Amino acid sequence: MTIRMDEGAAELLDTLHRAGYAAYVVGGCVRDSLLGLTPHDWDLCTSALPQQGMELFGAEKCIPTGLQHGTVTIKQGGGLYEITTFRTEGAYTDGRHPDEVHFVPDVREDLARRDFTINAMAYNEKEGLVDPFGGQADLQSGVLRAVGVPHQRFTEDALRILRLYRFAARFGFAIDPPTAQAAQELCAHLDCVSVERIEEELAKLLSAPAPAAYLDEKILSVVLSELSPEALAAAKPVVDACPAGEQALPVRLAALLLSLGEDGTRRTLRRLRCSNTCIEETAVLVREAVPGVPVSLNIYARRLLGKYNLCTVQRLAALGTALQPEHAADFAALSELAEQLDADGVCCRVSQLAVNGRDLMAAGVPAGPGIRKVLEALLDGVIREEYPNERQALLAAVQQLAAS
Ligand code: ATP
Ligand code: MG
Repeated sequence: MTIRMDEGAAELLDTLHRAGYAAYVVGGCVRDSLLGLTPHDWDLCTSALPQQGMELFGAEKCIPTGLQHGTVTIKQGGGLYEITTFRTEGAYTDGRHPDEVHFVPDVREDLARRDFTINAMAYNEKEGLVDPFGGQADLQSGVLRAVGVPHQRFTEDALRILRLYRFAARFGFAIDPPTAQAAQELCAHLDCVSVERIEEELAKLLSAPAPAAYLDEKILSVVLSELSPEALAAAKPVVDACPAGEQALPVRLAALLLSLGEDGTRRTLRRLRCSNTCIEETAVLVREAVPGVPVSLNIYARRLLGKYNLCTVQRLAALGTALQPEHAADFAALSELAEQLDADGVCCRVSQLAVNGRDLMAAGVPAGPGIRKVLEALLDGVIREEYPNERQALLAAVQQLAAS
């Protein structure tokens, strides 16, 4: 069994081995490689202490990201690599960090502190796969299983309960029954985990291909207590019908939180300490996710483009499709039309009108807030195609507006 290793990671392993240390790539990159997926980063573990690693690689290549926990980040060939000293860890009493870590000489001890068997494998070219807990077999049969005694592992760090569903959702895996049972029994402990760690896992869970089956009612009632079981049940099929991936996270969040309304969605995402961008992008979708299909697609598309950028309009179309699959063709047309209008620079905003405030004043409109109102009225007429977006036509329309 060989893993095609990333060049930077292979060079780092080589340097550590030549200096006499044990070293492996470990965790997610081994799991993803065995699944035939391309790892997004390559983490290393080693017997070298953080100080020894820094001396070996030289201070200018090292970022001391978490020295007390044994982690150094190394710049190598344009990439960044986390190297962590083999360690065991205590409980996460504060819900954020292990109370204490002990550096240990053996990779197997390090693998034993990891959460799931599929995440507890290490690899280097000399020894091949180090897999003391049967991670490879669990990958093959599609099972998430805690390393060691599940009850104990979830008591040490309750975030693992949410990670369990996150990884199962990501790969569409089943959950080993004793592991699932311990997760259900101990899920109230998620209450003590820092909200930043929860948010990160929740976002990853929601970005999975089809997360609905893994949005467990009991777990969600702890980490997302704003959402009633009925609202969760109604949202599930909509969530799965939304596009997957990190890019579409606001669409999935909007589908999940729609029942809370715009204010409730904002409050919930603020409590979870989501970024302001994520809160805004999600809240807009919840606000605009109107049921029913607009009379004129063209007018609807242009009004939306007047308020939001193309990406948001397309996300709205995706959410609309998920909510009303029977209107999928209309939403696809909306998305396409918006793209076309945007590319053609068709007038959707006041700033795109062929006249501006100064033109209006020259035409006799009194200065002040009334100018903005007239411009908006002109835009409305242009969007409804009452007259073209041309200077003469607009000035004529101003006279009509003044007369009416
Ligand atoms: P991803 O591709 O999503 O980053 P990953 O496996 O790299 O997946 P991380 O959250 O980056 O997941 O964690 C890296 C590794 O560290 C995991 O594979 C696991 O071995 C270990 N790990 C991370 N968090 C925990 C935890 N709370 N308890 C035990 N082990 C953990
Ligand atoms: Mg990772």
